[in-house]
Amino acid sequence: AEKFKNKKTAAGFDLFLKDAQQGQVVTRFPPEPSGYLHVGHAKAAILNQYFARQYNGKLIIRFDDTNPSKEKEEFEQSIIEDLALLGIKGDVTSHTSDYFDKLYQLAIQMIQLGKAYADDTVQEQMRAERMDGIPSKRREASIEENMTRFAEMSTGSAEGRKWCLRAKISYEDPNKAMRDPVIYRCNPDVTHHRTGNTWKVYPTYDFACPIVDSIEGVTHALRTNEYRDRNPQYYWMLDALQLRKVDIWDFGRLNFVYTLLSKRKLQWFVDNGVVGGWDDPRFPTVRGIRRRGMTIETIQEFILAQGPSQQIINMEWDNIWTINKRIIDPVVPRYTALDKEGLVKVTVKGASPRHTKEVARHKKNAELGTKVTVFDDVVYVEQADARSFAAGEEVTFMDWGNVIIDSKEQDAAGNVSAISATAHLDGDFKKTKKKVTWLAASSSNDLVEIDLLDFDYLITKKKLEEDDNFADFVTPNSEFRAVALADNNVVSLKQGAAIQFERKGYYILDAVKGKEGRMEFIKIPDGKQASSA
Ligand code: ATP
Ligand code: MG
Ligand code: MG
Repeated sequence: AEKFKNKKTAAGFDLFLKDAQQGQVVTRFPPEPSGYLHVGHAKAAILNQYFARQYNGKLIIRFDDTNPSKEKEEFEQSIIEDLALLGIKGDVTSHTSDYFDKLYQLAIQMIQLGKAYADDTVQEQMRAERMDGIPSKRREASIEENMTRFAEMSTGSAEGRKWCLRAKISYEDPNKAMRDPVIYRCNPDVTHHRTGNTWKVYPTYDFACPIVDSIEGVTHALRTNEYRDRNPQYYWMLDALQLRKVDIWDFGRLNFVYTLLSKRKLQWFVDNGVVGGWDDPRFPTVRGIRRRGMTIETIQEFILAQGPSQQIINMEWDNIWTINKRIIDPVVPRYTALDKEGLVKVTVKGASPRHTKEVARHKKNAELGTKVTVFDDVVYVEQADARSFAAGEEVTFMDWGNVIIDSKEQDAAGNVSAISATAHLDGDFKKTKKKVTWLAASSSNDLVEIDLLDFDYLITKKKLEEDDNFADFVTPNSEFRAVALADNNVVSLKQGAAIQFERKGYYILDAVKGKEGRMEFIKIPDGKQASSA
């Protein structure tokens, strides 16, 4: 929490709220439990917590559970866990459904004030009338008629389910959000994950949100500015019911290139088996990006650095992964892994046979301790390195010393099968062009076979348009697997550990599989590969 205090953002903004007083601010993060949290939600959650802490106020986590057709207990649990992962802790947790009685009474009050009416216009027509500024044929019904119809809706009867309740604001306001929005719907066939079958009618977000904000004492409601057209409607509800006013602070929605952030669309990828689940490393969910090796510190820094920007930002993933790299590079231990395919044995004349030495896990961070490196007079190097060596060339074998290449066995296609070299271990490594990684080769016990996974974006188009069918843009193959040999020190790593394989990049140990304990590492992007998330 200290971290959030008086923080100037990297962009130089001081984030502040209008009319905010120390100790008085109440913010809320209102996730709908209809999917897992994604990086966009993280932005909203982090900003809400930031302001609550900045002003010594209060943060409410409110599950916005007004649509039982989409919501599930499973999602609610995952949201609680993911918020904890993000370091977000509400002072209060609530549910919109805690207020269903109150909201229902207020809907009746709206009818009695002549500010709401029941409507059975079919959806299609209602949409057309709203577009064209035509009043509903039910708009001037009497209070008694509306009371009877709303009562009928509340029973969930065949008749009742034809109706909805609408706020009577305007049918022709230039702002279409003001054209008599629906405030209550009949939804009698589903069971709500908290209120069961008690209710046959449910308030809409447009109705419930301002009311519950006001009742719960929220002083500043943070909303993405795509809702700006709906702000007057939000204020209208509070006015109509003479409820305490709430300030809206709106901010730019966060989007990423090549990325879908709609829970409905992400659900499609899960349901169709395109990804392994909501925690797939290709997913922009909190779980997905964590699994890919992004730290919480990175997410917080990235979000706060954007400051009070109103732009709807279409971020490159490289921006956030670059921050991540800066954060992890000094603190992750280093190991060696070589692509298994095409490995080349190098016999080093004049080197000592197999022996071991303790070396630092990170040359610039002694706190990371040491590892045991095996040295040998027979070592492996990668095929690509082997090909690049010329006879007579002096090259540096990292953490060891120089060797001089004597000769290569190479076929017509250029594949190198073996190399003979002579040790020149005291040679000056500043004078060599090539610093290569290598592994001792005489005992297979010194090596462990591992899998290295890397991923591409899930979709092939940078920015999908409204009328694009996202399913047409699914990347045919977005998972890449390679087998590598690593130094045996990796065996002691725990799942979730982030490391660097020298010259290969950063990896996170994702899973240890089967009886043999085969290790699967996922590549942590470092912000330098424009083509891959
Ligand atoms: P979806 O469209 O994926 O269903 P939603 O916006 O309806 O998402 P909610 O659970 O209602 O999801 O969102 C909770 C909060 O997170 C809201 O305050 C919403 O404005 C905010 N939020 C959602 N997506 C983003 C985003 N991409 N950038 C910033 N804030 C977001
Ligand atoms: Mg929503
Ligand atoms: Mg949305």
